[in-house]
Amino acid sequence: MAKVKLDELRARLRARGLRATPSRLAVLELLLSDQADQPRSHAEVVSALASGPWDPATIYRNLTDLVEAGLARRTDVGDHVWRFEAVDGKHDSTAHPHFVCTECGTVECLPVMKELVAPRAKTPRALKQRQVEVQVRGLCDTCL
Ligand SMILES: [Zn+2]
Ligand SMILES: [Zn+2]
Repeated sequence: MAKVKLDELRARLRARGLRATPSRLAVLELLLSDQADQPRSHAEVVSALASGPWDPATIYRNLTDLVEAGLARRTDVGDHVWRFEAVDGKHDSTAHPHFVCTECGTVECLPVMKELVAPRAKTPRALKQRQVEVQVRGLCDTCL
């Protein structure tokens, strides 16, 4: 995927009321470069940005800032680890399902499912409003 231009990232941050600090830019760029791939944990973001001068606490704050500003989303697939991913056109604000490998714990993003069919008339309101997370569990290609 083509590298997202820094100017565009700055504009995105400022449009959401965030200052475009170098670490925020680096974190956002990293999350966007992961599109449609897999969400990253804080530890994975820290190691991916290890060449930068930022400490893990700064990167964690950047991640939560991006979530609060609506530029990223965090998800817990059940292992009590927050994983972060960018929210943009392709990865829009509608949460997409995640595939979790029950063997190695790999997490992958799945395409957005247009419809979640609930055959019963009475379903939780959150489901109708699509405020739910869909998770698919099974074996990844490597473990199968
Ligand atoms: Zn696996
Ligand atoms: Zn995802």
